[in-house]
Amino acid sequence: MITELKQYTAKEICEGFVYNELEGKGLFGLNGKLTIQPEYQRNYIYADGKRDVAVIESMLKNYPLGLIYFNKTDGGQLEVLDGQQRITSIGRFVTGKFAIKMNGMEQYFSGLAKNQQDTILNTTLFVYECEGEEEEIKEWFKTINIVGVPLNEQEKLNAIFSGPFVTLAKEKFSNSLNANLSKWTTYVKGNVKRQEILERALQWVSQSDDVSGYMSQHRYDTNIKELETYFTTVIDWVSSVFSDVEPEMCGLEWGRMYELYHKNAYNPAKVSERVQALMADDFVKDKRGIFEYVLGGEVDKSLLNIRLFEPSVIKSVYAKQTQEAKAAGTSNCPICAACDNNNRTKIWDLKEMDADHVTAWSRGGATDISNCQMLCKTHNRAKGNR
Ligand SMILES: [Zn+2]
Repeated sequence: MITELKQYTAKEICEGFVYNELEGKGLFGLNGKLTIQPEYQRNYIYADGKRDVAVIESMLKNYPLGLIYFNKTDGGQLEVLDGQQRITSIGRFVTGKFAIKMNGMEQYFSGLAKNQQDTILNTTLFVYECEGEEEEIKEWFKTINIVGVPLNEQEKLNAIFSGPFVTLAKEKFSNSLNANLSKWTTYVKGNVKRQEILERALQWVSQSDDVSGYMSQHRYDTNIKELETYFTTVIDWVSSVFSDVEPEMCGLEWGRMYELYHKNAYNPAKVSERVQALMADDFVKDKRGIFEYVLGGEVDKSLLNIRLFEPSVIKSVYAKQTQEAKAAGTSNCPICAACDNNNRTKIWDLKEMDADHVTAWSRGGATDISNCQMLCKTHNRAKGNR
């Protein structure tokens, strides 16, 4: 099967647009050269005042409409494989079949300002034109519709925003011969050929998961300096702060962490010592959280998912503490027992107490019975906040 990426304006596509109101089918476009609804296509379902309107609104905002696929038939005719709904919406709007709401008013195409009409007509549609045996095409069409699109998000965006910027960016970030690749993939997860390293680089520099805005803005740039510099800066920062290389580092949100922490000063030797200690700590269940935990000054323990005391340990410590407290006539919370108020002799229920590390976990205290005490919830919380 041969595929070729082409561009058409909405105006070209809508030339000679024919819509069959009765059957709900967009029939022809491109001056009759394009069959919009081949037999195996489902009927037009966008005529609900929402999805059809959304297509037009996207065009007015210059949002990408996504890839469209045409099939080239033997006679040189084209038929829509994927994109029928979008094309039919555009054709119906341009030929006055429905209105959109603008500033609370219904607006048909003919009522729009000239510049808005032009925005719609000049919208570029990116089309993959495919040529192959009918069976092959149908099989492939099934794949993109049912099994999933063979192109991933970044691959689609690369096609939509094709131009000098994408070409340069791919040379750098999608090149399996790039000498920096092994260093990059220490920290960045993904398949270089499926554009996943590039995707991450774009996410970092744009500080967003949706990179389409950035790509659209830089589409015609003839250099990728900002993208390259930012990516390299993040990688260099990580590798200078963390001198050790751990498999758990791969795929972390380094771009976000760079933004949060790069202004802090770190002593790499000290950082390494802490990382190694935490890596070896059996109580740290989430090893991937160690790096941000250290960057943040070892405050947010929730990043580490610390192993808790076993319920059997809690029960047995509670029983022992309560028995001794009752015998002594004091509270079973040792801190309450030392207070000078009504709680001094209060015996708390198990559910009113929490297990506490006598020597804090962060100071090397173990999570076992020898280092477990029960505190009333108030005192446990107070201690945790210190
Ligand atoms: Zn207490």
